[in-house]
Amino acid sequence: MIKVLHAREIILKNITPVKESELLNLDGCLGRVSALVIEAKENIPPFDNSAMDGFAIKAKDSFGASRENPKTLEVIEDLPAGYATRKSVGDAQAVRIMTGAPIPEGADSVVMVEDSQKVSRCPCLPAGRKRQVSSRKKEEYVRIFREVKRGENVRYAGEDVKKGELVIKRGALLKSGHIGMLASLGISKARVFRKPEVAILATGDELVEIRQKLAPGKIRNSNAYSLYSQVLRAGAFPILLGIARDRKEDLRSKIGNGLRADMLLVSGGISVGDYDFVKDVLKDLGTVMKFWRVAMKPGKPLAFGMIKKIPVFGLPGNPVSSMITFEQFVRPALLKMAGAREIFRFHLPAIFGEGFKKKKGLRYFLRVVLENKNGALYASLTGAQGSGILKSMVLANVIMELPEELENLRHGDTAQVTYLD
Ligand code: AMP
Ligand code: MG
Repeated sequence: MIKVLHAREIILKNITPVKESELLNLDGCLGRVSALVIEAKENIPPFDNSAMDGFAIKAKDSFGASRENPKTLEVIEDLPAGYATRKSVGDAQAVRIMTGAPIPEGADSVVMVEDSQKVSRCPCLPAGRKRQVSSRKKEEYVRIFREVKRGENVRYAGEDVKKGELVIKRGALLKSGHIGMLASLGISKARVFRKPEVAILATGDELVEIRQKLAPGKIRNSNAYSLYSQVLRAGAFPILLGIARDRKEDLRSKIGNGLRADMLLVSGGISVGDYDFVKDVLKDLGTVMKFWRVAMKPGKPLAFGMIKKIPVFGLPGNPVSSMITFEQFVRPALLKMAGAREIFRFHLPAIFGEGFKKKKGLRYFLRVVLENKNGALYASLTGAQGSGILKSMVLANVIMELPEELENLRHGDTAQVTYLD
């Protein structure tokens, strides 16, 4: 029996990333792995622009301004987002500007609209006398109530991304932010690695398919479907091979069908029962077994080997063990195969709200519910933790991992948890 971390190391050492890639439209890229480094060919934003609705001015014209002692500037233009002006802001002048509009020449900062007040006539002139302003129908002025620094409320060209900057690494998992970034750079297609194909075989004389009637002693094949969805979630392409009966010939032919995939998952039949033939058949087919049995709960019977270049997992038949071992071993292997740089989930500490006794030497994966109580993260069990209690996976939002050496987890102790999705 080997330790979880050692088992994972052995698996990952045997996984080779796919080489083939495909060019996809952006709308198909979410969750895919970038096959290329992407550098910006332009600045984002492409031009200096206003971060606020307000008035573009020369900062020095606001110096000394306050509520009691406002500065009055002449407004020479209205500038909505989407337009530019050829006008230049001179001394004691302002351009009314909207968020996202380009900063006009001559201006170096923007006063927020909240720190200003428009006035239709220069208060410094006697009532009735209007100063001549050539290009505007109505002369307008603005009172500034606050000093601004040079550059205040200006978003500079390239302040998000500079031309030439690396924005997406090879192996990055493309999230919504990446998709938006590609769009803003004018990149409508991205090269991503192809999805690994994963063949899934359920085994067991007791299994029937979803739509079939249950006869005495029979249960429905649920593992194939939880594994199918886990493969999908890991960004790979699942292929269902159906159910193999607990007979060597059937196992041999159905496992054979899976050898065109990039990875093979066989569920059940890997334990020490009289009808657990999966290991024998895998060996007959030329599998080099790397290990069998891992010191963990749930999930102890877990075999891993290579049939030529294809990694094969013999996953435990118990529904929870199947899902947990997928999470711990198959998911990182699939992400590595898909070319991803980051293959492990993020761990965070949570306070355990109850007591729990465990067997020393095994790593435990408890299904728990994480809750935020007054800013602290508390975890509580989902109920019975048997490896056949699939409800524990339904109710859990995180998995709590208890290391091998631990024996007794007390109320209030902290342990690491990992989000499932
Ligand atoms: P095994 O690992 O084949 O000894 O199976 C262990 C337990 O998991 C048994 O109770 C099986 O009935 C159950 N089991 C095995 N395969 C599946 C499956 N595909 N779906 C649901 N339960 C299964
Ligand atoms: Mg079985």
